[in-house]
Amino acid sequence: MKLRFVHLVALLLAALLPAGAAPVEPAPTPSAPAASAPAASAPVAAAVTPAATPVTPAEPGSLTAGESFAPADLLAWARNFGTPLYVYDGDRIAANYRRVAAAFTALYPATRLHYAMKANTNPAIVQILRREGASAEVVSDGELQLAMRFGFPPREILFTSNSKSPLEIDRAITVGAILNVDSEDELEQIAQRAATIGAAARISFRLNPAVDPHTHAKIATGVIDSKFGLHFVDGSAMRAVKRALELAPRVRLVGLHSHIGSQITEPEPFQLAAQEMVDFVVRIRRELGVKLEFVDLGGGLGIPYHDGEETMSADAWAAAQSGPLLAAREELEGELPQLWIEPGRALVADAGVLLTRVNSVKTTPIKTFVNVDAGFNTLMRPILYEAYHRVRVVGKTGGGKVVEIAGNVCETGDLLAQTRDLPPIQAGDLLAILDVGAYGFAMASEYNSRPLPAEILVRAGRPVDLIRRRGTLDDLLRGTNVPLDLR
Ligand code: PLP
Repeated sequence: MKLRFVHLVALLLAALLPAGAAPVEPAPTPSAPAASAPAASAPVAAAVTPAATPVTPAEPGSLTAGESFAPADLLAWARNFGTPLYVYDGDRIAANYRRVAAAFTALYPATRLHYAMKANTNPAIVQILRREGASAEVVSDGELQLAMRFGFPPREILFTSNSKSPLEIDRAITVGAILNVDSEDELEQIAQRAATIGAAARISFRLNPAVDPHTHAKIATGVIDSKFGLHFVDGSAMRAVKRALELAPRVRLVGLHSHIGSQITEPEPFQLAAQEMVDFVVRIRRELGVKLEFVDLGGGLGIPYHDGEETMSADAWAAAQSGPLLAAREELEGELPQLWIEPGRALVADAGVLLTRVNSVKTTPIKTFVNVDAGFNTLMRPILYEAYHRVRVVGKTGGGKVVEIAGNVCETGDLLAQTRDLPPIQAGDLLAILDVGAYGFAMASEYNSRPLPAEILVRAGRPVDLIRRRGTLDDLLRGTNVPLDLR
């Protein structure tokens, strides 16, 4: 009912557009993949279906590779829904899923994709992936409950966190999700909670293979000094496995897990980590007779954020991840566990564009600042990880002016893009910041009392859907209370 209303609003707004403006509803694309086709049998999408392209054919400033949307559409959506605005290409998300799934199942048929929900928890985005066949990987009780509400069977959900509260442990045990155990201390707590509840806890161990993933330090998780996982070198991984066997049947060890980091662009770190993991799988089979249901080798596949950048393909990722397991077939007496992977970024990052309006342009003695109506409260990656996102001036091409894209948060560090050669920009222009579908809205905040941005979903042959309304002043006050004596 709600969705239909949103459609009506979108159509109404389209009707109100000035003459010559692009309609909101994109024309159908016959080659668009069916959203419900099963992942394993779906063809690999060589070229991603451009959602919403058909509205306005090629024109100056058309966005290219990794940029699905026509400028006229972007302008219309910015007018209709306001800015800052997250725009997602739903068909691209489905195609990304199929490409990754096909790459893995071609080499290792017993692969299961667990979408790392933290990348983007918008219910509409998650539903696209669930319908494609994804399971879920969650990192908090909130995500666990959302995943169940979205329809993921709890027994397929993997709950990873280095710091689980008693409430989180209880919930995971009660609903039957798999607890990805991060420490020996946590293992003991889980066993105690399981005994109290009177249920068995299904667990895996998060292991730290001490591999440098050659990515930003803040997203390198499987290095020796990170807070994540149990280690091989200090014997804690082996001790934990032995202890889990002692704690059976209260605790049932069903898998092993590692996730070495995010935005990884070369196969070697994956291969090294996978080898470490498989060596351990073989060792506990030989020494302890442990047979696992799955080995989860995490997410982490990077995407090209720069123009012309080549990064590792899903095929290369699949080969790096599955190679060591396949090579261990004999040592595991032909009984290979399932291979689980948990991509986030690779599924949703390049499907998202952030639209932001230019408020003003200022030239100082050193630099020219383009002040926009988004900031690190809208897109945190640049300030948090020095992340690079391509920026386009919608409807304009070329370059000629080196500028800084300055956010509207009252902090010096709030620069969304630095030293960019862009066409001349003036107040009122619309900028598109690319590849923001992962860790974009998910990290947004109301800092500086700016309400959260809206999100829309574009799919070929369908009206545009508003999938999150813009925040309001009431949202800023949500849940607060002023004691009577302070009113
Ligand atoms: N799994 C775990 C445990 C994570 O922490 C993350 C994110 O860092 C992911 C999966 C997803 O990583 P990515 O988005 O790089 O695929």
